[in-house]
Amino acid sequence: MIKAIRGTKDILPGESGIWQEIEKISRDNLKLFGYQEIRTPVIEETALFVKNIGEETDIVTKEMFSFVDRGERNISLRPEGTASIIRSYIENNLDKTSQFRKLYYIGPMFRAERPQAGRLRQFHQIGVEAIGSLHPALDAEVIALSAKLLDEAGVKGYRIKLNNLGCREDKKKLSKILKEIFSNKKGEHLCEDCKRRIKMNPLRVLDCKNDGCREVVRDTFKEAVFICGECKTHFEEVLKFIDMLNIKYEIDPYIVRGLDYYTRTVFEITHGGLGSKDAIGAGGRYDNLSLDMGGPDVGACGFALGVDRMMMILDRDKKSNGPDIFIAAIGDAAYAKAFGIINDLRNNAISCEIDYEKKSLKAQMREANSVGAKFVLIIGEDEIVKGEAALRDMKTKEQSSIKFENIIKEIASALAMTKRGL
Ligand SMILES: [Zn+2]
Ligand SMILES: [Zn+2]
Repeated sequence: MIKAIRGTKDILPGESGIWQEIEKISRDNLKLFGYQEIRTPVIEETALFVKNIGEETDIVTKEMFSFVDRGERNISLRPEGTASIIRSYIENNLDKTSQFRKLYYIGPMFRAERPQAGRLRQFHQIGVEAIGSLHPALDAEVIALSAKLLDEAGVKGYRIKLNNLGCREDKKKLSKILKEIFSNKKGEHLCEDCKRRIKMNPLRVLDCKNDGCREVVRDTFKEAVFICGECKTHFEEVLKFIDMLNIKYEIDPYIVRGLDYYTRTVFEITHGGLGSKDAIGAGGRYDNLSLDMGGPDVGACGFALGVDRMMMILDRDKKSNGPDIFIAAIGDAAYAKAFGIINDLRNNAISCEIDYEKKSLKAQMREANSVGAKFVLIIGEDEIVKGEAALRDMKTKEQSSIKFENIIKEIASALAMTKRGL
């Protein structure tokens, strides 16, 4: 039997209801913050990612799913959302109608990481890109929005860590400082990856997840002496705005993010439930990306949340998306009656299901329980004679009789009571 590809996962019916809920909550809140959805293709030219995420990043060197198609084009599955969205923003002249754009996306991303808990090769993100402003209030708002989406989805106990990377010139200074620090004996204690990173992309040494590297880094590198005055002021302003929004955060000088385009504010959101090495979300500013890609010279800021990781933390009732009503009908006359009722219920926006296999009452009750129905409507030969049905609350196990002509009304009010928690 052919199985799903390693590192990929089916989202099964028990879970998909929670996914839909998270997506709906997110869409509602993103609308409140003025964001509009953008959907870009999952495949792009490989060069888009190599040039903009950075040739020496882990994503590009080790993690992309790239292939040559039948027309000899180099194509990759998107490993993240930002590069595609800026491409689309420029290509479709979105800056021409309004220089400031707030865009969001929900969808799968692909990275060939070593599969382990919380690391999938097809993973799913909810992300935003606010394009067209350098204002520090935007950084604060973007961070607040990421926290709000987590709060509204019910994710508790996360930590927001912030850092200031400075502008491109500051980053160059930092690279030089790091090269100097690690070119002496200290550098010998770093992992093999980091030894290569020192030459090609020294910033990445700062956020290496290897314990040995972390120790060396924390011993040798303490503070951000490389940041220019303008970038320092920008970050101070960002913190002021965040404080106004009552968002809790920590400053972490070792957060650099794995992508080359980030400048100034970068942040990571971590959660104890994922272990120390994995973030539930991350983002930051990328003020050069649009210009680098041939677009307008505009500041921009964004984040992405990992939905699969949110799902790992959220321990929700998996039956929450069961039908309102399961109709258990016994005998042909009852089945015919039930088939009419089911249609009426659906026309009144009440979800319902029925047994198609002429099972026994006991088996139908088991079925109702396993699909997570809130109520079972029981119709047998006796009920047909009396002109009524029995309505059983699957939670309280209470049962009551209702006349056929009152079925819709009675069921609607019973559902309303359960929704109010009565
Ligand atoms: Zn600077
Ligand atoms: Zn390392």
